[in-house]
Amino acid sequence: MSVASKVRAVMKKVGYLTKDGHMQGAGNYRYLSAEKAVGELQPAFTAEGLVIMPVGMEIVETREDTTKSGNVMHNVRIRVVYRLIDADEQKDSQPQEIMAFGEGSDTGDKALAKAMTNAYKYALLQTCMISSGDDPDHTASQEATASETHSRALPAQSDSLRCEWPDCGKPIKATATFSLEKIVELSRKKCDGHVLCFDHRRDYQAGERWEATCEQCEKTFGPTVKAGEKTYLLSEWIAKCSAELGGVFCAACVVELKKKAAA
Ligand SMILES: [Zn+2]
Ligand SMILES: [Zn+2]
Repeated sequence: MSVASKVRAVMKKVGYLTKDGHMQGAGNYRYLSAEKAVGELQPAFTAEGLVIMPVGMEIVETREDTTKSGNVMHNVRIRVVYRLIDADEQKDSQPQEIMAFGEGSDTGDKALAKAMTNAYKYALLQTCMISSGDDPDHTASQEATASETHSRALPAQSDSLRCEWPDCGKPIKATATFSLEKIVELSRKKCDGHVLCFDHRRDYQAGERWEATCEQCEKTFGPTVKAGEKTYLLSEWIAKCSAELGGVFCAACVVELKKKAAA
């Protein structure tokens, strides 16, 4: 049996994988977790005598961010080349190579491990032609990688299309992997109709927002909220507000409501 027919056997066995992960926040969406993808696909590959091994890895980007709580968040993007090998084949006739991107973020030392797990997940999904649909990392990593390596060769396709996030305004540009049209389409699909830059798409998908409506006075506010000495990101404010008052209110209404409650 050829590698291709073995892959077909895996596809038949595994069939459709339903999304099991749930990203919470206002941008609610479902995704296929790496645990599930690897957990279901790897045994099927092994049973067919197919072995997948990494033969090359490249770190595409590392970045450090500070989280809201002050910890350092390590972000790693990698590109891995896997070789798909038929273990029953006497000689390595035609090894198939699969290239996959992976991204991982961790405040400890697990960013690279997470990136590798994700890359592995995509390699398995790609091999079986299973689309991971709503998972944001895939697109994000590919776009970022492409824009870094090819940005100089790319024409600026539009100066008018900019990130909608307040105070950002970064121009949205095509990458080597995606046309401008495709990036806009992906952003609209994943961010409830908004066109955002790479960083803000990630923020949006993590549940960050720039605007909320007060349940009492119906004013809109954001992307940050000043209350006394402190300035909160909208997501922090909503979390704090919901926990303390069971709803979303502007800073002025919170003062009012707390006074009422104390009286
Ligand atoms: Zn932006
Ligand atoms: Zn209000």
